[in-house]
Amino acid sequence: MHLVVLPGDGIGPEITAATLAVLEAAANRHGLNMNLTHEVAGHESLSRHGTTVRPCLLETVQAADGLLMGPMSTYDYLDAGKGGINPSGYFRKRLDLFANIRPARTYPGVPHPTRHEFDLIVVRENTEGFYADRNMAKGGAEMLVTEDVCISLRRITRPACARIAEAAFRLAATRRRKVTAVHKANVLTMGDGLFLEECRRAAANHPGVELEEVIVDAMAALLIRDPSRFDVIVTTNMFGDILSDMTAELSGSIGLGGSVNAGTAHAMAQAAHGSAPDIAGQDRANPLSLVLSLAQLLDWHGERRGGPAYARAARSIEAAVAEAVEAGELTPDLGGRLGTEALGQAVARRVR
Ligand code: ATP
Ligand code: MG
Repeated sequence: MHLVVLPGDGIGPEITAATLAVLEAAANRHGLNMNLTHEVAGHESLSRHGTTVRPCLLETVQAADGLLMGPMSTYDYLDAGKGGINPSGYFRKRLDLFANIRPARTYPGVPHPTRHEFDLIVVRENTEGFYADRNMAKGGAEMLVTEDVCISLRRITRPACARIAEAAFRLAATRRRKVTAVHKANVLTMGDGLFLEECRRAAANHPGVELEEVIVDAMAALLIRDPSRFDVIVTTNMFGDILSDMTAELSGSIGLGGSVNAGTAHAMAQAAHGSAPDIAGQDRANPLSLVLSLAQLLDWHGERRGGPAYARAARSIEAAVAEAVEAGELTPDLGGRLGTEALGQAVARRVR
């Protein structure tokens, strides 16, 4: 498997190094033929090359089997005149990574703020909504009408709703056979109305999978009350962003939030959280988000091109994570005192 590695900003380099230690152990155990290309994006690229993403990087990534990306300090890049585009959004759009799959589950040994054990997946639409291009002149999403009035546009299209709904139902068919579509169709009647229509259409194509529809505000409350009643949650881009931080935190920490951004031809492993500049460089970040994202990417590759060894490697990484945290190998966000690198090693040691 040819993997491009972009360590990213803030805690990115630390959690990426820990993740690569786990990858090395898994590749050795399962005989994966890994070929890594180390590249830069974000601040490192801005200072070296004058842009956060060099255009030639896209070709490198397109030719590879997958991308492992650390978190990027998106806020810092807003001034596009300085070469600052958001690498995460850039690859999501250019590679058409339309489905952001964000699992969350509780682990024995990890304190979590809910009474319930749970295991769910948030499926977040990844290409439109409020995240269409920022610049209105380029068909983007925000416009200052006067100095004091801004209009933000949310783009929702039927094809994008249809494919995210289909992805959610396919996933649910392999799990507990329930999809919860989260929306605000009582206010956003047209956009979320369209989203719901496509969820119902997908439900009709998957008669074995139940569809439940929940308004996003009620969903926030229901998730706090009892996350165990959900299996696959499908929603539009921004609701998915918000709810998946919540589900990760409900599982114990935002630092457990892994994700894969999946398209038909490409996929990118990426922690669900940001670059956490407040704890960067202190060896306190939880690397498990990116470790679990890597496992998702190996799975994705195994299903398409790599074969069953990749799925076995993914399962062994997930099992090693569960074993390590149960043994009390915890970073501060999980209530422990272990460092980023040490937790990476603790997981790598347990990969079988
Ligand atoms: P973004 O806009 O990129 O999503 P954000 O503003 O949502 O960024 P994060 O960088 O996700 O912010 O950080 C939110 C909080 O969670 C911070 O206090 C940060 O330290 C903490 N945090 C995020 N990731 C981790 C991690 N892997 N381990 C420990 N704490 C983390
Ligand atoms: Mg965030």
